[in-house]
Amino acid sequence: MHRCQGKLWYNCRNKDRGGEWMYYQSTRNKEVKQTATEAILKGLSKEGGLFVPDQLPKMPFTLERLVEMTYQTLAYEVMSCFFTDIEEEDLKTCIHKAYGENFDHPHIAPLKVTKKGCFLELFHGPTLAFKDMALSILPHLMITSKKAAQEAREIVILTATSGDTGKAALEGFADVEGTKIIVFFPEEGVSAIQKRQMTTQEGENTKVIGIKGNFDDAQTGVKQIFSNKALEEVLNDQGYVFSSANSINIGRLIPQVVYYFYGYSQMVKEGELELGAAMNVVVPTGNFGNILAAYYAKQMGLPIGKLICASNENKVLYDFFNTGTYDSKRAFHVTHSPSMDILISSNLERLLYHISGEDTVCISTLMEALKTKGHYTISPYMKKQLEGFYGGYANEEGTLKAIKTVYEEAQYLMDPHTAVAYDVYETYKEQTKDETPTLIVSTASPYKFTSSVVSAIDPQLAKEDDFQLIDQVEHYLGAPMPTKIKELLTKPICHTAICEVEGMEQSVRAYLKLS
Ligand SMILES: *Cc1c(COP(=O)(O)O)cnc(C)c1O
Repeated sequence: MHRCQGKLWYNCRNKDRGGEWMYYQSTRNKEVKQTATEAILKGLSKEGGLFVPDQLPKMPFTLERLVEMTYQTLAYEVMSCFFTDIEEEDLKTCIHKAYGENFDHPHIAPLKVTKKGCFLELFHGPTLAFKDMALSILPHLMITSKKAAQEAREIVILTATSGDTGKAALEGFADVEGTKIIVFFPEEGVSAIQKRQMTTQEGENTKVIGIKGNFDDAQTGVKQIFSNKALEEVLNDQGYVFSSANSINIGRLIPQVVYYFYGYSQMVKEGELELGAAMNVVVPTGNFGNILAAYYAKQMGLPIGKLICASNENKVLYDFFNTGTYDSKRAFHVTHSPSMDILISSNLERLLYHISGEDTVCISTLMEALKTKGHYTISPYMKKQLEGFYGGYANEEGTLKAIKTVYEEAQYLMDPHTAVAYDVYETYKEQTKDETPTLIVSTASPYKFTSSVVSAIDPQLAKEDDFQLIDQVEHYLGAPMPTKIKELLTKPICHTAICEVEGMEQSVRAYLKLS
């Protein structure tokens, strides 16, 4: 028997739990107890907490079996541990629909072994960023949950995006019956390609709105709309209910656990890792969703050594891991890695919950301090639990230099987010001399950030705009550009709305024709 924070681990299949379901608690209230489908539908707990599994399951297969599994089989094995109230057939159907022809690689999340490192490429889905790994399945999970809960109301997905979530969520929910989706993005805080991807979105049920603010403003605005009781009532009267496609939704987080197992399996198959040996992971981090999924995989029993959290110049997490103080009151930087330009990393709350021994009172206090004062400090006990993490950051210069070096020395073209991870990994190795085989998580295609990538390699060319530089990136990669990128050049723009941060609620009301 293993022990996790004083609790017994259990095996996760329904039958192994004696037919018992996994329940989700709130990080801020011990009394809350929801099934997976309820948690997926709600997104966020009523009092503002995030849903967390009541206990983390133990992986239900051996490592020997792991290396035999396809992505889809593995996805079922992992997700069935967490989504225990979804029928086996239904879950398999969701997985089948999510991970198929819409990905441009048969392995879904292929590993690229290069002279400069092993990259787990998570950008082979329809919108060319890692958000597709979860957002291609979330709509299916949500529809399944809606049926299971006999929820008759139409689901309104509210999403704040730092650039990639928005498009991936739009793509996933466009024309899905019984849903509408509204996306808020920082008007001036995303790349030109990211913006075009969103503003050309088709689908009767989609709405895209630029806000005059940054991602944190968008995320805070969305959370406020969620907890607005008066609005909830009006919404209910009109037959609507809100949910979230952000990584605060457990239906986004759990599908992300899968690819860490898959990455391990491919490292073994490629001869980069011995079966059973530990592997480090380095994750370019913003909202802390991706790396939290790696932490869950580790807690489930996957041999992961260090969890290396890579930040850009918005290095609030780097400071947190090094000092135990989280301080969001600081200058906000717009960087070459806009999807990580975040000062309030929502999913950190889940980690705090786990390392505090599931102390909901403590978490409520810390989150209240963050909201009112902009900062909090964790106890020495909690700080001690963070030893499995390493926090690093890359500045803008280091990011661009990494793109150039890896391109020139290994003929591998990284996007700026992946480059942040790479640069932090280099610093980590230098500082610690740790030579453990390491998985570098590659989160976006370089096609989404053409001007940053080209300016890193050949600053002379970088004067042109993002769209003109697509050909240059195609030239570097030496392969034809994805059709999704080609289409962008000619697609009509169908979303032009812009609002002030204070006007977000009004925009929602107007779109849904609420009074
Ligand atoms: C969202 C995103 C990240 C950050 O992931 P989190 O789960 O928010 O930490 C990193 N890179 C890219 C390309 C992204 O889209």
